[in-house]
Amino acid sequence: MRPFLSVGARYLINLEVLNTIESAQGIIRHRRAPVIDRTGKRVLLVPVISGESIANSYQLLLSKASLKNDLPVCTLCSKGMFIKHSDLSHLRDLSKLGEDLSPVDKWLIEKGRKATPEAIEGEIIKGCVVEDIGGFLINEMKVKRTSRFQTGYMLPVYDGLEAASKSIQQHKGEDEYYVEIASALYSFTFNLDIDGIGCASLTRRRKVIETEERRRRIKLAVQTLAYMMDSFLLGANRSRFLPTVTLDSFIITLSSPYPFVVSSPARADYIEDTLERAKDFEELSGSNVQIWYSKEGKELLKTFKSVVEEAAKADEC
Ligand SMILES: [Zn+2]
Repeated sequence: MRPFLSVGARYLINLEVLNTIESAQGIIRHRRAPVIDRTGKRVLLVPVISGESIANSYQLLLSKASLKNDLPVCTLCSKGMFIKHSDLSHLRDLSKLGEDLSPVDKWLIEKGRKATPEAIEGEIIKGCVVEDIGGFLINEMKVKRTSRFQTGYMLPVYDGLEAASKSIQQHKGEDEYYVEIASALYSFTFNLDIDGIGCASLTRRRKVIETEERRRRIKLAVQTLAYMMDSFLLGANRSRFLPTVTLDSFIITLSSPYPFVVSSPARADYIEDTLERAKDFEELSGSNVQIWYSKEGKELLKTFKSVVEEAAKADEC
């Protein structure tokens, strides 16, 4: 089995909270992105949660869960600083200051310069779950690993935009509009290349950790996604601007051996469309697509339990 996980969901989010903008100390609280509505004539500026912010939240949860489960994490990832060995001088400074660095950090400082890119990739996968799953880039040593997960902007869904456009305010002489409504449906998409977790891939696919540990990492990666989605542990400034959020609907697919991605939850019929596409995909590619969904957004964690079990059946690298 060479599993690939894809998740699409819709969340009802209180926009008044997301809309709150303060410029104290030059910090703009919420990012807005221009979205063109279905008429193609209007640009709506809507509050969004960036893919970068989702990635940061996911990696932070992954780091904490790994440490709790005795899985390795490097020094800076364990502190929630995801610079991922892009600046080794920083680690050398920390070492001089007496910081007890993780084994992979020590290895990189001592042997990194003379090691091959393949060896460096292998050591980092072994020594840090966050970088195994979230990828890394070390310019100094010309080594990179593509992230095993993909996500993007959480935007209001198309049908939500239309509802929103009834109460938008036009600014004089500008073609831009601000959405001013109480709440809106937002789309969320997340893909996880389970097949790539724990396997080196820089030049060729190869095993670098034991298959038992690889399966533990896979379980952890899927469980972490489940917790993040269920409790909506996303976005910044949660200490004072915790948004009011309800999971509206979701669909989860697990495909093997070819990757299948769910239809965008921006469209209202994303669940039906995914079901149809999955059938065609199975016929065309000979792949198997397992599907779980709820149109009411119910029992997400229960559903994920079966997904975790299936995902952990992954073979050796
Ligand atoms: Zn790390």
